[in-house]
Amino acid sequence: MSELRSGGLCCKERERLEFEWLEVRTRGQYLARLRGLDRAEQAEWDRREQAAQAKLVDHDLEHGCSG
Ligand SMILES: [Zn+2]
Repeated sequence: MSELRSGGLCCKERERLEFEWLEVRTRGQYLARLRGLDRAEQAEWDRREQAAQAKLVDHDLEHGCSG
């Protein structure tokens, strides 16, 4: 019965999700700069980025640990 609200202390799971999101963004931007992305690839990276961000937002809503 542990209380999950930790008063703004960092949450490991949130940290992980945030890292995943940043990683997807960084990698997509890197590839775009390195060799360019065609429309399908750009759409795929956008989709991945949005999916990763959605997970983070969902976590915030469920867990209330953003900040
Ligand atoms: Zn959390």
